Amino acid sequence: MAEIINGKEVAARVKAEVRNEVLRLKEKGIDTGLAVVIVGNDPASRVYVNSKKKACEEVGINSYEYALPEETTQDELLKLVGELNADERVDGILVQLPLPKHIDENAIINAISPQKDVDAFHPFNVGRIMIGEYNFLPCTPAGVMELIKSAGIELSGKDCVVIGRSNIVGKPMAMLLLHKNATVTICHSKTRNLKEICSKADVVVAAVGRANFVTADMVKDGAVVIDVGINRLPDGKLCGDVDFEGVKEKAGYITPVPGGVGPMTIAMLMKNTLASSKLKAGIKD
Ligand code: NAD
Repeated sequence: MAEIINGKEVAARVKAEVRNEVLRLKEKGIDTGLAVVIVGNDPASRVYVNSKKKACEEVGINSYEYALPEETTQDELLKLVGELNADERVDGILVQLPLPKHIDENAIINAISPQKDVDAFHPFNVGRIMIGEYNFLPCTPAGVMELIKSAGIELSGKDCVVIGRSNIVGKPMAMLLLHKNATVTICHSKTRNLKEICSKADVVVAAVGRANFVTADMVKDGAVVIDVGINRLPDGKLCGDVDFEGVKEKAGYITPVPGGVGPMTIAMLMKNTLASSKLKAGIKD
């Protein structure tokens, strides 16, 4: 029976640490601010934006919301990003994805100042992550690393499988595991023998976006199974990419959905915003 890694608890600890530091900065007269931009009326995006604003309140970061209508043009959004880049109150800029189809997401990501890119999606920051010299890590993979660390799991030399190769989760996830000296295999929609590859892994990170994709027969006894997926079932319930009930009987460690990686993503966003504020102020410790 697997030990369940409690993301809510670890996220609460990370946020408490951020809060302490944010308050310490305030004592020096330094305020920390996050601009959150949402375009259109996507209900899931609204939920994410509200959670991010709530987390800002919890840790003492000022949040500035810019809710723009669906018909906002790319030029209008680029103009706002330019203003936020220059805004002294703003340490981090988060543009909630997905954007409406008529806006090129990459054009927007590329326009965000790398110094304020607390999602770490800008090519400059992606490159820095590749060479292992970074100020910000992308929030979800960084949250996964924090969960693994919290459970005292050593990654050096381990066989890790990441299922999914998105720019936001799969690819940076693989890179962070590699930085910890794991041997990393990235599986995706065209991978052959996925079951065979997974069932040999010491650590499996699932970021597929398909409910119950990872089943017990794909998991080695005692493996660490981290579930990044967020899927909504027809009955409205949330579930991950891992068949939690089946896999928990076989794995050594497992993260639940909800209450696993999700809360960590937001906690790491707070951590990145704090890091940006400290960098701007020239504070190193
Ligand atoms: P994505 O759709 O961009 O990527 C999914 C990946 O899964 C692709 O790389 C694809 O190759 C792979 N894939 C699809 N079908 C496959 C199959 N049959 N076999 C093997 N691989 C397959 O998604 P994403 O943005 O990387 O997100 C993945 C999941 O993680 C989604 O459920 C998303 O909601 C969730 N997510 C959660 C958080 C969080 O905070 N917990 C953050 C980001 C994404």
